[in-house]
Amino acid sequence: MEYNNLPKVAYFSMEYGLDTCMRTYAGGLGILAGDYIKGAKDYNFPIIPIGIKWKQGYTDQMIDENGKPYDTYHNYEYDFLEDTGVKVTVNIRKRDVVCKVWKVDKFGNVPLYLLDTDIPENEDKWITGQLYGWFKEERIAQEMVLGIGGIKALRALGMDVDVYHFNEGHAVFAALELIREKMERGLSFEDALNETRKQVVFTTHTPIIEGNESHTLDSLMYMGANNGLSLEQMVKLGGDPFNMTVASLRTSRISNAVAKLHEVTANKMWKHIEDKSNIIGITNAIHIPTWVDDNMIDAAKGNGDLWECHMKNKKELIDFVYERNGVKLDADVLLIGFSRRAAPYKRSNFIFSDVNVIEPLLKNKKLKMVYSGKAHPLDDTGKKIIENIVSISKKYPDSVVFLENYDMTIGKMLTRGSDVWLNNPRRPKEASGTSGMKAAMNGVLNLSTLDGWWPEACNHGVNGWQFGNGFESENEQELDKNDITALYEVLLNEVIPTYYNNRAKWVDMMKNSILSTMEYFSVKRMLQEYFEKMYIS
Ligand SMILES: *Cc1c(COP(=O)(O)O)cnc(C)c1O
Repeated sequence: MEYNNLPKVAYFSMEYGLDTCMRTYAGGLGILAGDYIKGAKDYNFPIIPIGIKWKQGYTDQMIDENGKPYDTYHNYEYDFLEDTGVKVTVNIRKRDVVCKVWKVDKFGNVPLYLLDTDIPENEDKWITGQLYGWFKEERIAQEMVLGIGGIKALRALGMDVDVYHFNEGHAVFAALELIREKMERGLSFEDALNETRKQVVFTTHTPIIEGNESHTLDSLMYMGANNGLSLEQMVKLGGDPFNMTVASLRTSRISNAVAKLHEVTANKMWKHIEDKSNIIGITNAIHIPTWVDDNMIDAAKGNGDLWECHMKNKKELIDFVYERNGVKLDADVLLIGFSRRAAPYKRSNFIFSDVNVIEPLLKNKKLKMVYSGKAHPLDDTGKKIIENIVSISKKYPDSVVFLENYDMTIGKMLTRGSDVWLNNPRRPKEASGTSGMKAAMNGVLNLSTLDGWWPEACNHGVNGWQFGNGFESENEQELDKNDITALYEVLLNEVIPTYYNNRAKWVDMMKNSILSTMEYFSVKRMLQEYFEKMYIS
């Protein structure tokens, strides 16, 4: 690829996961964005990221004495933010809201610009209070700050931009601002839309319907999110109710899903939408220096003892678990890690489906498990899932651990120190999943359904394991039954025997896991693909 004269890309994302201390992320979407802008720095790609400075970030999870999760919030202050001196105004609920623009580049990332409404002159200081917090109206206000405020910030900063990339539909109000700018210059709505389409690209994420936000037109008009457009024009873009993903598909020139299987799923899911951009597939990737132990990569290349390096990471995890939970795990026992957002399709407690299979393994010291994960503050089903895992950990206190408040530190410890990384979503609901990539490159073997990124990487029995053959069913009971049989079969007949009886093969698999994933699932390949397929027109 020709690296000179690449188009300059403004990248919009609600969240960025750059470091544990900077609470501007909730989960995978933010981690992807954070890794993306670190990769842009490493490889010199012209990306200008725009986001929000969240005062309280996402919820901090705590577990009460009854084993129930609850949400706590803290105000976070950062002394490393640089004041750009720029302020922009967004009219929200008929009130001018001033957004201050901060800059941060201290995490090995290209400079990230963050909008903040928490300043004395605002009545609406709390718009940028909680990431994914509160209710619908606040979410719209937040998305107006990101989209409309983001475009205004780019103008005020004097940034030269060729392409606007919406990472998820949250940012789609930016398209309304791009349209407004053009209509102000005298273009008709249709012409302004066509011109805007030439500038915008869009990444769609979750295939879960509810994860694709929509808002009533009444609420959007009331908030002023229509940004001067008529009700009919809004319907033309996002439908009624106004769906943020649909509007993004209609205001972009090209879109992408985040893995090859997800490309198929997303195309099925949105096939009834007219006037949408093409959805291609660009598989997610990770920023290796953030997540992967160099020593593991060196050892896989033949410069070091892979097992020894892994045991060092495993012992660090064991110490970390001891410090946090007071449980001393045994380094000689197979350790399975699982950390995920608590969503039903991810089936967190799946491996416990049949106690008669799992209990003997836990009691006979053949298996230990470490869990972590948060539920969204308003998601009672998700909280039940956490409660259930915590109750399992109380039933098997020496063998099953739940680490509260899943964050980047826990993610890093678990994807380095576990022996096996378990992933059991109901196919095809997992768009990509990047924690498995972190694990794979650390020599932590993936044991996963063929969902998300895994069909692209899995070589069964060589660099990890699949269970099930990619079976899909609308009938969840049937699907679960199929998958649990497959999981137990692979766990009992392949994973456990290999771990305890064939260490040489296990280490060989670790090596294959690292070497087969470290190029393709690196952020460098992903950035190149975005430039080649999305940004360069
Ligand atoms: C890597 C990571 C994620 C994303 O991983 P998934 O496989 O999509 O669950 C989410 N949260 C944290 C803290 C991570 O480190």
